[in-house]
Amino acid sequence: MVVDRSRALMPSQGLDTALRDASLRPRVVDVERRSVLVTRIGGTAQVSDLSVPTNCDGLGRVRHFRQAVVPGWPDNPLPIVPAARWLGVPSPSKMIAQVYQLAACAWRCWYCYVPYASLRAAPATSVWRTADALVDAYLDLVDRPPIVDLSGGSPDLAPEWILWTLEAIERRGASATSFVWSDDNLSSDRLLTDEGRTLLDQIARYSNYGRACCLKGLDAQAFAFNTRARSEGFERQLAILAGYARSTMDLHVYLPLVGPPGPCAKTQVDTILDRLSAIRADLPARTVPLFIGRFSTMAGRVDDVHERALDRQWELLAHWERAAPAHVSMR
Ligand code: SF4
Repeated sequence: MVVDRSRALMPSQGLDTALRDASLRPRVVDVERRSVLVTRIGGTAQVSDLSVPTNCDGLGRVRHFRQAVVPGWPDNPLPIVPAARWLGVPSPSKMIAQVYQLAACAWRCWYCYVPYASLRAAPATSVWRTADALVDAYLDLVDRPPIVDLSGGSPDLAPEWILWTLEAIERRGASATSFVWSDDNLSSDRLLTDEGRTLLDQIARYSNYGRACCLKGLDAQAFAFNTRARSEGFERQLAILAGYARSTMDLHVYLPLVGPPGPCAKTQVDTILDRLSAIRADLPARTVPLFIGRFSTMAGRVDDVHERALDRQWELLAHWERAAPAHVSMR
């Protein structure tokens, strides 16, 4: 098993997020044509982790969201609770979502369930589609899921995709029955620039939309260990989150508790909860500890250090559960 441990454990020499973002963006979005490069999931290594076959000509997949995660881990209410609220139904224990994946990401998380080959904007594993075409394919599905999940890869490389999708669903009169959910790894402040703010405001006016922002660790060391990017990206994640928190967007946070070798200290959990509170008082209650499970796509990336990280997430969870009652629960 070959693992590039040096890249994982030397944050100062990690991936240059800004450089990679600038290189990938023009390869995944065509603003004029309102098109994005999406992964052709069918035929990739990811298929072996799917419980049902891909759909929409291999470009989509159905994800089964469940509030119950694994025994002992806290429930994950996302995106079920916000989606059910929009749909006007009691929150069920599970819900299905139609997932499309943008075909690129600047980072290389060792626990990513997407094969790295599907994160490079590679023509062999991806295809251009207009947002309208993807929405039409979704709306044509028999047993159409009530949630559309714009995932990745990193959809924030192409934030226009989210607005185009919301607009397409609205134009087709399907907003009342479709909740749009998107993942954001907080690697780009594109929506916080002068130009991007208009787009952010347009997205935020849709009530059938929620955004999951994934912090990539409890601190800068965990961020670098998990993403292989330079450790300063952690502070940048928090700054981007703070920018979003000033908008009216329905914002939620995922927080993986995996990280590099070292003590699992309660102060690590206390510190991140304090940082989130300082950004916006309700953010700790909107934060869900993300359980990292084992996917077949992780094979070859995981060595003993990562195995220990998977075990240590349980130790940090114990601290989380002691600290979290001080914060308002979302559930
Ligand atoms: S940020 Fe998300 S899509 Fe990118 S490598 Fe990490 S887990 Fe995968």
